[in-house]
Amino acid sequence: MAVLVTGGAGYIGSHMVWALLDAGEDVVVLDRLSTGFRWAVPDAARFYQGDVGDADILKRIFHENRVDAIMHFAGSIVVPQSVAHPLEYYDNNTSKTGALAAAAIEAGIQHFVFSSTAAVYGEQPDDTPVRESGTLVPKNPYGMSKLMAEMMLRDAAAAYPFRYVALRYFNVAGADPKGRTGLSTEGATHLIKITCEAALGKRAGVDVFGTDYPTADGTGIRDYIHVSDLVAAHLKALNYLRLGGEPLVANCGYGRGYSVLEVINAVEKVSGRHVDVRYGPRRPGDAASVIADSTLARRLLGWKPRHDDLTAIVKSALAWEGKLDLRRRQEVAPGRERLAPLR
Ligand code: UDP
Repeated sequence: MAVLVTGGAGYIGSHMVWALLDAGEDVVVLDRLSTGFRWAVPDAARFYQGDVGDADILKRIFHENRVDAIMHFAGSIVVPQSVAHPLEYYDNNTSKTGALAAAAIEAGIQHFVFSSTAAVYGEQPDDTPVRESGTLVPKNPYGMSKLMAEMMLRDAAAAYPFRYVALRYFNVAGADPKGRTGLSTEGATHLIKITCEAALGKRAGVDVFGTDYPTADGTGIRDYIHVSDLVAAHLKALNYLRLGGEPLVANCGYGRGYSVLEVINAVEKVSGRHVDVRYGPRRPGDAASVIADSTLARRLLGWKPRHDDLTAIVKSALAWEGKLDLRRRQEVAPGRERLAPLR
């Protein structure tokens, strides 16, 4: 049987493809290459370029491959963009997830793993780790578009022979420890990515958004999770569904947070380079502290994080950032290049 990975040419999707191949799975990728890269998809996966909302290409994929599970990563993720273009987000993240689920049900595919987000929760009253049963009041169309998709999956699972796991990601960071893929998206705004770019001289410095939060050092706190642990949770979810597991929504984070300044310090330490910092006002829509309670994923999926270490996350992100430009220039297939490691 094969697993269809939508968005498999993107950041998390490409890590998923490698993890599935490592686990001996047969992998099919569907990606329209709007933000992903063809070279990020290993040769061992079958690649289709197209949109997840395109019923024809889905039919073709299901006809040409024995797909028993879908991992749906394709989507739009930039919060300010979602505020400026909400209907695009509802189309891409909500309607197209519905169309994909409908195509899956029509084709008799029963297993679906969905990329959701901590943005479904919105503002938290304090810094206690949030549970799946926490209040769902997204602060932006991005979070709402994912929450609506979750609701559609819930109702579809109640009506049809179809089961899903929705994983709510906290702050995903880092890169494949083997250096096969990483965060390559142009213009990505994640803190760890930006700080690594600054350490490598690709940007002047880092703007710290807000120094007056009710946290120990005044800057925002996030639960940074290594992308390899995140894709490991997806493998567990796939296994759980194949064994007949009931629909499930589960947080993916470590249950502990780091402030913006702690992240910057970690990057300076690992890289051995100074990072210029400019202190600025809060970024609209940002919460003070976002930390996961991931008891459910651990208990029901048997998920055991193995990379819960900020230094290791930063090391892998820096190593990838160091060779990203070469990779982009060469546009070679992953695994074929022979580049020296960063340090
Ligand atoms: N952040 C920052 N400067 C940046 C990017 C992010 O100070 O250039 C802060 C942001 O305010 C938040 C944390 O870093 O407290 C993580 O932000 P990111 O955009 O990486 O992820 P988010 O939590 O918004 O999904």
